[in-house]
Amino acid sequence: PSYTPSESRYQNMPYKRCGKSGVQLPRLALGLWQNFGEVDAFSNAQAMVHKAFDLGINHFDLANNYGPPYGSAESTFGKLMAKSLAPYRDELLISSKAGYDMWPGPFGIGGSRKYLISSCDQSLKRTGLDYFDVFYSHRFDPDTPLEETMQALDYIVRSGRALYVGISNYSAQQTKQAIAILQDLGTPLLVHQPRYNMFDRWIEDGLTDVLTDNGVGSVVFSPLAQGFLTNKYLHGIPDGSRASRSEQIHLNADHITRDKIAKVQKLNEVAQQREQSLAQLALAWVLQPQAVTSAIIGASKVEQIEDCVNALNNLDFSPEHLVGIEKILAG
Ligand code: NDP
Repeated sequence: PSYTPSESRYQNMPYKRCGKSGVQLPRLALGLWQNFGEVDAFSNAQAMVHKAFDLGINHFDLANNYGPPYGSAESTFGKLMAKSLAPYRDELLISSKAGYDMWPGPFGIGGSRKYLISSCDQSLKRTGLDYFDVFYSHRFDPDTPLEETMQALDYIVRSGRALYVGISNYSAQQTKQAIAILQDLGTPLLVHQPRYNMFDRWIEDGLTDVLTDNGVGSVVFSPLAQGFLTNKYLHGIPDGSRASRSEQIHLNADHITRDKIAKVQKLNEVAQQREQSLAQLALAWVLQPQAVTSAIIGASKVEQIEDCVNALNNLDFSPEHLVGIEKILAG
């Protein structure tokens, strides 16, 4: 059956300007890091992307090596473009990245011009897109001159492969330098993509100031700490969850400590007082700083996306709740 997006898709989603750019982003984006690979059911991937778009999520985040296997999340997205989303291309903001390991040898990893441009071309081929809206350097590469990486991003824009550039996982200092180089090149930095959640607040220590001072936006990843900041691990590790999957190296059962579960349980009480799910509380919380444009969620089920989008109905915090959350996190 063919897909027609909901007519009300722009009615409830709040959008926020990305730094000082002309681009407005939905406060939630969907990332395809996990659950959209060749190993995953296409029908579920399709249902999740369609549901997201129906709810006003028109920003989809990819990278060259999302899968597994590497590249297959982009292929899944390409299939969706061909099957149903192509007529809506101009409504969508699609990003991809290169930086971590992708193919064997020295040209398949890092921040060289050689790697970034060829990887971008491969990503365009897999997705079937003519261009990405945002192309990112996925990480700072200490072995490549930052000028080379930024010149590669600038070239990717000038050659029509992307409309804007981003950086991900760069420190505050590295970000400052990247902003200055890109400014000189005439391709301003649109967006930074850092990890940010209640358990990982490194961006508050300098990065958010650099972004705000320079009019750069940010879309933060793992806002739910990969599912840990939801109600799913309150009573152990349920089957089918990310932490239960043996191939998982990113969220293994060892990360789920007693101390953290105790905090999650207390946060869950705050969520209940606010008549939200814990996932909704965690999302509202990361969306507070001025420098945060959006949060990129992941999902394994359609219902999770619906639950997350409902966070947007209650983004305000009373001072008491904010203090209470700080106490829980510090405890
Ligand atoms: P999250 O912290 O949002 O974790 C997503 C997981 O949380 C889901 O897979 C699901 O777990 C669980 N979940 C989501 N919603 C709910 C809900 N409402 N109730 C209960 N559980 C829920 O983000 P990710 O870590 O997945 O990262 C999101 C995106 O960010 C990635 O897809 C990618 O695009 C980007 N990213 C970028 C990185 C970078 O270096 N630039 C690194 C990592 C991510 P389960 O699968 O167990 O059901």
